Amino acid sequence: MLFFLSVFIIALLGFIAFRFARLTKTLRTSEERWKFALEGAGDGVWDWDIANDKVELSPRYIEMYGFTNQDVKRGMVAWVERIQHDDRGRVKADVDAYLTGKTTHYINEHRVLCKDGQVKWALSRGMVVSRDKDGKPLRMIGTHADITERKNMEEKLRHLAQFDMLTQLPNRGLIADRLKQAEAYAKREKAQLALMFLDLDKFKPVNDTLGHEVGDLLLKQVAQRLQLCMRASDTVARIGGDEFVVLLPLIESAQDATVVAEKILGALNQEFQIGPHTINISSSIGIAIYPQHGDDDKTLMINADTAMYYAKKEGRNNAQIYRPEMEAQG
Ligand code: GH3
Ligand code: MG
Repeated sequence: MLFFLSVFIIALLGFIAFRFARLTKTLRTSEERWKFALEGAGDGVWDWDIANDKVELSPRYIEMYGFTNQDVKRGMVAWVERIQHDDRGRVKADVDAYLTGKTTHYINEHRVLCKDGQVKWALSRGMVVSRDKDGKPLRMIGTHADITERKNMEEKLRHLAQFDMLTQLPNRGLIADRLKQAEAYAKREKAQLALMFLDLDKFKPVNDTLGHEVGDLLLKQVAQRLQLCMRASDTVARIGGDEFVVLLPLIESAQDATVVAEKILGALNQEFQIGPHTINISSSIGIAIYPQHGDDDKTLMINADTAMYYAKKEGRNNAQIYRPEMEAQG
């Protein structure tokens, strides 16, 4: 009898200890999860069981991307597939760097595909909450904050800072950056590039006779025609009133640049139709080639400008390649 009682008591204690351990573990698990969730109030929470490669998602996370509890896929494959393709490598690199101890925090901004195909920007943060006895990460918990608005605002500001509002072409600052990059590349590869300055001929009379608004519409159409004369790797920028700059970052010879310049002269010589107005204009173009007309961006700009003024003097509607004698005649 005593024996059975002892066995019973031991079994009962064992059972209580087992339940207690489970309860403690459950409490710890939920505590970890919600402590972290609370840190980013309003954020979606993800919970990654690294050992089994399973992911759990909080209701806010699921709702943030337009899913419901029923239709969200929870597996690791689906999780990765929701990340915009171009961002996957960066996310993986950041996670790996954190898990291998190269970084002390996991934080990453990436785009996530919503159920309806929309793309949202997420700020993802996370930390390892359990490791095995060798320190190998077993579980990681983190949050997603929706930062789409901030990202869109940043993109707008970046666009405003780099593009001309009227024509949407790159502005003076952006073309200057691209010229520097192209010059560095040409220097390294011992290649040539061409820089062209273009100014419309007798544009002011268009404004004076038809009004500033018609002038603006004409500038927009000029911008479109210029773009049609370029390859994807070339840049055309508007740097002022009726002044444009064309950068051909890689040319075989000066001849390549004159071919493009002739194409532009021809394109702008075609009449423009703006509302009821048929307008004829032309342009003057100056060309400077790297490295023979300058081995730095400033000299190239100055020399392309000099050549453009020379083209004006030569009667407009023509393109000129820079020559040092032009300065004496300017
Ligand atoms: P040229 O043949 O010598 O180049 O003479 P132009 O009449 O084209 O005059 P110029 O290039 O010296 O000046 C450009 C004019 O462009 C001056 C200004 O009235 C006008 N302009 C500058 N910015 C704008 C703009 O944003 N919109 C419009 N509609 N006109 C502008
Ligand atoms: Mg002009």
